[in-house]
Amino acid sequence: MRYTGLIEKYRDRLPVGDNTRLISLGEGNTPLIKLENIPVLLGKNVDLYIKYEGLNPTGSFKDRGMTMAVTHAVEEGSKAIICASTGNTSAAAAAYAARAGIKAFVIIPEGKIALGKLAQAMIHGSTIIQIKGNFDDGMEIVKEIADHAPVSIVNSINPYRLQGQKTAAFEIIDELGAAPDYHCLPVGNAGNITAHWMGYTEYKDAGKASKTPVMVGYQAEGAAPFIKGSRVDNPETVATAIRIGNPQSWDQALKLSKESKGWFTAHSDDIILAAQKLLTEKEGIFCEPASAISVAGAMIDIQSGKIPEGSTVVCTLTGHGLKDPDTAIGQCDQSAMINVNPTLKEVKKAILDNM
Ligand SMILES: *Cc1c(COP(=O)(O)O)cnc(C)c1O
Repeated sequence: MRYTGLIEKYRDRLPVGDNTRLISLGEGNTPLIKLENIPVLLGKNVDLYIKYEGLNPTGSFKDRGMTMAVTHAVEEGSKAIICASTGNTSAAAAAYAARAGIKAFVIIPEGKIALGKLAQAMIHGSTIIQIKGNFDDGMEIVKEIADHAPVSIVNSINPYRLQGQKTAAFEIIDELGAAPDYHCLPVGNAGNITAHWMGYTEYKDAGKASKTPVMVGYQAEGAAPFIKGSRVDNPETVATAIRIGNPQSWDQALKLSKESKGWFTAHSDDIILAAQKLLTEKEGIFCEPASAISVAGAMIDIQSGKIPEGSTVVCTLTGHGLKDPDTAIGQCDQSAMINVNPTLKEVKKAILDNM
């Protein structure tokens, strides 16, 4: 049967009626790829998988939540949606609004949005409101806007978002036949880690898995409110998707971390970028910087033994590497590019010199 998106697939477990018009772009059903080379480099016996959420229709997991949120907004008769965004939420909102035939307004932090994400918000025809502030400033405004303008909020404070996002946990259990021992994620607003925990516990309660995983959340050092224990006023990191100082799902994240016996750790931008490069060079997988922190953190915790050998570990790669081409190119040595004349002789020499 033709795959038509996660709402159709998991309809029994989602808040939709039989006659609801589904706004879908075929999101979900993303590959769970077993890493082959990085565990060898680590010298550790672990089954390490990545859930490649960058292969969703707009290139990030935000599509899982957006299909549900926009489906619900349209069902309610809404003619416009709004979000504050570090980039990927606005890309998803713009695309799903276009599909539904409604308007999208996106509030983005001036100059701090990755190029691919900006291109998406623009080309899908959303109205972009750029503020001289950061994501957290935009979020404060969005939380009040519904009282002043006829728009539906599609940030992760919209409960339909998390309903859609919980399906990633269903897919992992359906594919592995069991929950993993550890699930590692980047944490910004903490909506996604919360949604995963909802999905895992729901499947366990339904008898589809015998356990839930330990949930591990990683933050960038310059934007690590969960490690600091309080909000961060001027968050800064190369991983712009998690450049968030005042997480909206604060209470839920602390609760699930405790319940799952998990932890939060922060890592530096250098460690994040090194993991991004390692994934591209050793596994052929290109993710954006924020996503790479899940693998960076897992590698460090596997190395230290905090995640013991013999474990099954899933890391969510939240967004595609093409979202942020500037950072990717900045990671590479451009002087290594070989310039030659268009002759067989010179191209042959370039190859043989570099074998
Ligand atoms: C939104 C996003 C995150 C953070 O997810 P939260 O639900 O805010 O914790 C991480 N990585 C990418 C690529 C994102 O787009």
